[in-house]
Amino acid sequence: MTSLFLPDAKLAPYWWDQMPRPVLPDTALPAQADVVVVGSGYTGLHAALQTARAGRQTLVLDAEDAGWGCSTRNGGQVSTSVKPGFAELARRHGEARAREIVREGRRSLAWLGEFIASEGIDCDYGVVGRFHAAHNASQFEQLARNAAQQPKGLEVRLHVVPRAEQHQELGTDAYWGGVVYEQHASVDPARYHQGLLQLVQQAGVTLAARCPATRVEADGAGFKVHTPRGVVQARDVVIATNGYTGTLTPWLRRRVIPIGSYIIATEALPPEQMRRLMPRNRIVSDTRKVVFYYRASPDQTRILFGGRVSTHETDPRASGPLLHADLVALFPELRDVRIGHSWCGFVAYTFDELMHIGRHQGMHYAMGYCGSGVGMGSYLGMRLGQQVLGLAEGRTAFDDLAFQTRPLYSGKPWFLAPSIRYYRWRDRQSR
Ligand SMILES: Cc1cc2nc3c(=O)[nH]c(=O)nc-3n(C[C@H](O)[C@H](O)[C@H](O)COP(=O)(O)OP(=O)(O)OC[C@H]3O[C@@H](n4cnc5c(N)ncnc54)[C@H](O)[C@@H]3O)c2cc1C
Repeated sequence: MTSLFLPDAKLAPYWWDQMPRPVLPDTALPAQADVVVVGSGYTGLHAALQTARAGRQTLVLDAEDAGWGCSTRNGGQVSTSVKPGFAELARRHGEARAREIVREGRRSLAWLGEFIASEGIDCDYGVVGRFHAAHNASQFEQLARNAAQQPKGLEVRLHVVPRAEQHQELGTDAYWGGVVYEQHASVDPARYHQGLLQLVQQAGVTLAARCPATRVEADGAGFKVHTPRGVVQARDVVIATNGYTGTLTPWLRRRVIPIGSYIIATEALPPEQMRRLMPRNRIVSDTRKVVFYYRASPDQTRILFGGRVSTHETDPRASGPLLHADLVALFPELRDVRIGHSWCGFVAYTFDELMHIGRHQGMHYAMGYCGSGVGMGSYLGMRLGQQVLGLAEGRTAFDDLAFQTRPLYSGKPWFLAPSIRYYRWRDRQSR
């Protein structure tokens, strides 16, 4: 590794230092279960929590260790999660549906805070607010205009921060001001996952780690789920594989676009420097197309800096120095600061930039959070569990939205590399 890395730098999530992946024993699989959930991230565990608490015998399978996917690798930023703006949603789906979709995003944020509090999960959840920074003057004007003209009935708590006051939010001159979304939150994603895992286990769920589902076969009114450790007869199957959706479910694989997302954690910085760079301890994102997202670690000793997306460069040894250069472009005083951790994971994008929940060939699924699945993956996982139970409250604004694919797309996004290069170029031109 280059000298930008600490000698003992880890190519694994910063979160795993405190909360390593639990090594669950290789349990024998039951011959049958009411519900088999494939994937042990937030989506799968929340679905399992619902079905198990309602008395359904529930088995969760993960190809790797529990929570090995994005749910313990992410930046721990919690927002309202819906990417397309209200006007765009209204154009596509009509105003009434657009309102429901936006409200569902808001609900996911509020619900997650309530869930963590009511279940007593100790995971540094805090409503710290997001500073969304403008990377050029016209983006700042756009942000300020949008803030002044929020759609009626859908207003959120926010305030505009002009460039002259930016240092109250962030110790950099690289931006042109921004907007603070006051209700957005931060969380330690791995401790949140661990707390959720404990609830699921207490509810009686069996979690089989390092046990991939290799084939699902319709069988009468239910399914046969094949694994290297045997076949399980299931009444219901839930697919919760998001950015790791593979050949098990080719229909879903054609509908999600796996994109690598990368983070570095700096070495520990002096407290006064942290206070200067991140005085309000906000989560931060910016208006670039290839967005930077960053924050302080929960103990406010390091900066966790994320960005750079790709389809292929999965080696965090290569992505670390590139992210470091991006970090230094924003905070030149960090030039000599070294990288303590560098890691990546695969998020799932969709062709309409919306998350999807539904049923295909009898199997339930929720996925495609477009990089914002901490809140929405948790929330839709919970709703999905309710849908498996046939409960009316399981209905969501995303039900029955057409889940689009594109001709010739089979899960390998050949079209992505040129688009990313183009967006990066455009971001550089529009500084
Ligand atoms: C670097 C990074 C930063 C991010 N930052 C944020 C952020 O700040 N805020 C935010 O809201 N979102 C963020 N995200 C996205 C967020 O983490 C995800 O949207 C969310 O965790 C998805 O949860 P999930 O349970 O659906 O999928 P995952 O947690 O990815 O779990 C899917 C699981 O399915 C398993 N699996 C796949 N195939 C099989 C099979 N055949 N059999 C058994 N198991 C299988 C995988 O092993 C994996 O463990 C980030 C993601 C990354 C990678």
